[in-house]
Amino acid sequence: MAKVQDAPIRVGFIGNPNCGKTTLFNAITGAKLKVANWPGVTVEKVEGSTVYHDQEMKLIDLPGIYSLTSYTMEEIVSRNCILSDEVDVVVNVVDASCMERNLYLTMQLVELGKPIVVALNMMDVVEERGMEIDLHRLPEMLGDVPVVPVSARKRTGLDTLMHAVVHHFREREEQRENVISYSDDIEQQIAEMETALTAEHPDWGRTRWYAIKLLEHDGEVLKQVSPSIAGLATESLEKEIIQEKYAYIEEVIQDTLLNREEKAMRTERIDRWLTHRIWGLPIFLGIMLLVFALTFLVGDFLKGYFEQAVEALSGWVTDGLLYIHAADWIISLVADGIIAGVGGILTFLPNIFILFLALAVLEDSGYMARVAYVMDGIMSRLGMSGKAFLPMILGFGCSVPAIMATRALEREKDRRKLMMVIPFMSCSARVPVYVLFAGIFFGRYAFLVSFSMYVLGLAIAILVAKIVTVIQKSSDNTPLLIELPEYKSPNARTIAIYVWEKIKDYLTKAGTVIFVASIILWFILNFGISGKVDDVSLSFGSMIGKWLVPVMAPAGLGMWQVVVALISGLSAKEVVVSSFAVLYGVSNINSDAGMTQLSQMLAAQNFGMLNAYCLMLFVLLYTPCIATIATIRSESHSWKFTGKVLLLQLLIAWLAATIVFQIGSLF
Ligand code: GDP
Ligand code: MG
Repeated sequence: MAKVQDAPIRVGFIGNPNCGKTTLFNAITGAKLKVANWPGVTVEKVEGSTVYHDQEMKLIDLPGIYSLTSYTMEEIVSRNCILSDEVDVVVNVVDASCMERNLYLTMQLVELGKPIVVALNMMDVVEERGMEIDLHRLPEMLGDVPVVPVSARKRTGLDTLMHAVVHHFREREEQRENVISYSDDIEQQIAEMETALTAEHPDWGRTRWYAIKLLEHDGEVLKQVSPSIAGLATESLEKEIIQEKYAYIEEVIQDTLLNREEKAMRTERIDRWLTHRIWGLPIFLGIMLLVFALTFLVGDFLKGYFEQAVEALSGWVTDGLLYIHAADWIISLVADGIIAGVGGILTFLPNIFILFLALAVLEDSGYMARVAYVMDGIMSRLGMSGKAFLPMILGFGCSVPAIMATRALEREKDRRKLMMVIPFMSCSARVPVYVLFAGIFFGRYAFLVSFSMYVLGLAIAILVAKIVTVIQKSSDNTPLLIELPEYKSPNARTIAIYVWEKIKDYLTKAGTVIFVASIILWFILNFGISGKVDDVSLSFGSMIGKWLVPVMAPAGLGMWQVVVALISGLSAKEVVVSSFAVLYGVSNINSDAGMTQLSQMLAAQNFGMLNAYCLMLFVLLYTPCIATIATIRSESHSWKFTGKVLLLQLLIAWLAATIVFQIGSLF
């Protein structure tokens, strides 16, 4: 008498990453695992086996995925495996403590119609948190799939699960495929698609699933049908279908999850406002306005103390040098070159500190992740994913990490488009330029003028992205599936570390790039063809500047000092400010006295409010700093692309400043 009766049942384990699939798989199979790769790809394939009441079972651990689309190799592998005869029954492992997120995959599996058993894992966590799940209502709402509560870690419910698998297999029950009824319009398109599919592929089965995939413009399924059928799905309904699935999951949660965790409830209540369809965007803009108000208004209040310190330092050092009878040129180098350049930049620390502090609080509280959601609607109209907005927001801090964050996008084309526009986002290095010039020329309105730079930068970034999308005819339609963390009060330690890292970067820059730039600048201003010159207009700097003056004049920037400052700004944008300090010989440029001195010298050159605005605009838009250029090069692996970006930015900066100056001059 043979102990093992039938052929083995083949069971596929599927679930979101970290739902406890591997733990459950190991608990059931013991250590008898076989690890290989899926044919043709490097995705890991783990197999094991077990015997339950004389029934032999072969188990496959599929890659962890969030949905059954065909965007990643993991998804394609899992999907093909389930669709094929390689698997008889699917065990969908669901993290019961995060049902909202996990049930999305479940709904897709239900739609697929293959026999599935839901293993509701992490029940120990659910109990510990005092939550309850209605285990009668849940299977009903999922189209009568068996739902077995288990805990992989505590090894509870494993026998019941295996029993359900065997039973389900023997009965050969197919799931109901239409648990979710979509809106009438979508249902009608599904019906039409199903009719056409049945005519063309009568042997396929699960036509509802194929129809839905075709309406979602699924790449893999589109390849399998004739052009006439593919043509039926004129525009992708993917977003609508995702939304309606989530709406249904929301219903399931409402009906089956009792005593929800207090924290989750609070997050939901807050999100009702912060990610509201209509209010979400104004709230976001309001928060950003507040961030910049803090940066500029409170920052300006604090900077007074820093100026006094720099002034005192400058005085002591000059006195000290005079005392030891140092050569004139050394005193000039230290006082007019290094202290004016580096010291000037240090006085902007309070502004930079507050900006990063505010960004850190927004990030750590969980709000930043929502911004992608709030912006997804607008971004998709611009041919970009909501995911692209996060790197753009990071660009308010610094372009370098922002450009690295473009790795979140799947397609190279979308990444490049994003890299192209991120430098338009007004990074913290531009802050000193705004503080100084808006402060000198716009008085009470300085803050609003600075804020307009942020809005303009964002608008131009979005506009350029839109134009590129239209030219390349390539929209990023990948739907937004990111995990929204729960709101929490920000952690002081995390924030302190984040802010300190940024401040350290800023100080390092002042100590290295700006230090060197200040010395070089001092040199080209104090030396000319005939050696050391006393008249700055005979210096190398003035020669270079004067050569470019005709080009910059239409943009209101036709003064050789301004041109030199802009060129030196290529090393880092703060250098534009330190260059003004060195060029005009103003030692404490950020102080009231320094500002008055600079404004008088500029007024003598006919440099007024309009010129100042054009200068800020040009600094906002022109070629980013060396560090950013290097990052674009290393992330895109292309000098050609990097070169194109640089030229584009120079051109746009010049055009924008010229347009503003020419129109402004009419009044
Ligand atoms: P996979 O990514 O789906 O394979 O997930 P893993 O099996 O690697 O599990 C992810 C984490 O969840 C690990 O730290 C497990 O110890 C933990 N985990 C898995 N199942 C349970 C469970 O039932 N209860 C609890 N409390 N933790 C679990
Ligand atoms: Mg795993």
